[in-house]
Amino acid sequence: MDRRRTPPDIETAVLFKCARRCTLCFHLSGDLTEKLGQIAHLDKDPSNSAEDNLAFMCLNHHSLLDSKTSQHKNYTLQELKAAREKLYEAVVENKHTEKPAATAVTYNLIGPNARLNINSHDNSTNAATFGAGTTSGVLMSENRARLLVTLPPDASEKIANFIPSPTMLAILYILPVVRNYGKTMAAVTLFKARFLILPGGQRLPPNPDYAATDFQTVDVLAQLPPDAYFQPRAGIGNFDFLPVYEQQSTLWLYGLVDYRDIYDVPHQSRFCFVYHTPGGFNPNPAGFYTAGPEAYNRCT
Ligand SMILES: [Zn+2]
Repeated sequence: MDRRRTPPDIETAVLFKCARRCTLCFHLSGDLTEKLGQIAHLDKDPSNSAEDNLAFMCLNHHSLLDSKTSQHKNYTLQELKAAREKLYEAVVENKHTEKPAATAVTYNLIGPNARLNINSHDNSTNAATFGAGTTSGVLMSENRARLLVTLPPDASEKIANFIPSPTMLAILYILPVVRNYGKTMAAVTLFKARFLILPGGQRLPPNPDYAATDFQTVDVLAQLPPDAYFQPRAGIGNFDFLPVYEQQSTLWLYGLVDYRDIYDVPHQSRFCFVYHTPGGFNPNPAGFYTAGPEAYNRCT
């Protein structure tokens, strides 16, 4: 038998315990996604196939571990073993199957009793106590939550002051305001927004393509009482923004918010803004304006 060959039962144990997550990816950056990889010998002795000497690693980290460069303080045996134990614990706790939080987005949740549960679908505080059959449609409609998406006053100012560098990456963030103008709680389930840059003169398509892959999506459950609001974040990079800055293209920001009212009826509020630069035949000052076809601004 090849002494370099790891016994299959040990190999299986290692692969199983880490669920093919890389020890160093997890240790260094908390990355718990599945990797293509190999089983590394931590002491670099390929004949030592004791389970304690083995850890699964992605191809990059495995070759980094085995590299003999003096430029890089290599990972120590103790460090690697500790990292592996942490990884195994995370897998036991099923952290590797948790849906990752929407990292591209931050929330400022403001207002009386505003509450935000990221990636939680606990509806217990929002149980509908009004049977749909016992409440008249009119009363439900009067009392229900109504969400509207607007842009804060500083959004136009931020765009006006954003001078995109042609070489350095910078991202400008706009924080749309999702406010509950209704009389009762809203359970927000989804927010998505997209910057769209259209060459001068080109119109928006008549119907919004909400399935487009470059939407910035917040999969979230936020309980929004009346008058409370939250601000998801939508970012645009300087390279994308450049043609807008040079007044060759038009900047649009559009999207939707999905929510349920206390009667558990689903609703959707859509929004669409265009950034107007001064000049031409439009005398309005620079800034964002509600615009676009009806299908982009419909609220149900
Ligand atoms: Zn790795």
